[in-house]
Amino acid sequence: MVGYGLCKFRENIMRKFLLPILTISILAGCSDTGIAKESSQLEEQKKYEWRLVTSWPKNYPGLGMAPERIANLVEEMSNGQMKITVYGAGEQVPAFGVFDAVSSGSHQMGHSGGYFWKGKVPAAQFFTSVPFGLTADEINAWVNRGGGLELWREIYEPFNIYPIPAGNTGTQMFGWFNKEINSLEDIKGLKMRIPGIGGEVLKEAGGIPVTLPGGELFTALQTGVIDATEWVGPYNDLTFGFHQAAKYYYYPGWHEPGPMLELLINIDAWNSLPKHLQVIIETAAKAVNQDMLDEYLARNNNALTELIEVHGVELRKLPDDVIEEFRLISEKILDDLAKEDETIGRVYESYSEFRKNVSAYHEISEDAFIEARNK
Ligand code: CA
Repeated sequence: MVGYGLCKFRENIMRKFLLPILTISILAGCSDTGIAKESSQLEEQKKYEWRLVTSWPKNYPGLGMAPERIANLVEEMSNGQMKITVYGAGEQVPAFGVFDAVSSGSHQMGHSGGYFWKGKVPAAQFFTSVPFGLTADEINAWVNRGGGLELWREIYEPFNIYPIPAGNTGTQMFGWFNKEINSLEDIKGLKMRIPGIGGEVLKEAGGIPVTLPGGELFTALQTGVIDATEWVGPYNDLTFGFHQAAKYYYYPGWHEPGPMLELLINIDAWNSLPKHLQVIIETAAKAVNQDMLDEYLARNNNALTELIEVHGVELRKLPDDVIEEFRLISEKILDDLAKEDETIGRVYESYSEFRKNVSAYHEISEDAFIEARNK
């Protein structure tokens, strides 16, 4: 073993006075503790300052805090080597400009939901949520352990984007309405904000789906630009004050059973990072992916109670026949999409096979237990 100081001295002498070939042979015993250590120290000292754009209002509870928490964790875990500045929707790019910003490299990172890119990457919707699809636990299992992540990365790769799961709201609510939904007739002509395949299902049922960023929903609902809106669930919906613009709050959120959010990273930027920073980012995102779900689950019911008891909101369950119609339409739309688009076909095969298996197991585990507990 040769000491680092001695190696450094020898290296300088070699570079100045001797032939390169000789340098290599004499330095051979130093490589582990000398040159390699020096380059790794340089790598550890280099600072990285990245910008992250999101589709959420700045510091918005739940959704908007996920990228903030990832940024804080990365800075702490990297001992300040990497600093990520988070920008809310519209601060640097529009809410729905996040994918393009990361793809082009104008911003290294983004935080959003894949179903917003359905016009560009239709298969991306499966990695957020599809109607009557996977719950939060189930999509985590499919993405992380069931082949989903490999498909997701393959699909985003042509856009120069590396996706990482980064948050989940849990099962959402169907949303806010100013009239009761008693039959499918009440859906006809209804102008509702509902993104992704859920919106296509509404359209097939006679409604008019609209996609708007969260920050614009309250005004749109209050001014009658839309008749109804879905957003997330009680904790987030209370923050936006939808109860001041609509009276009825409908469940279940058949259209978003467990939407997974995404951390988007420009692939060139990702490849420029040393391995330990990549591991830190992946680990921070994994922690936040679970943390967000915990936050929603811990807070939703208190928020729901406040909406009902303090603000007089009327909670309603969608009629069974309306839910059944939405389910049948969803199946047809998903089957048709899978036939029309080879990529969706492959993703849908993996997704639906996983859903079939996990449903069969949940029937005799979680579903059976919940039924027993709630009796
Ligand atoms: Ca939603």
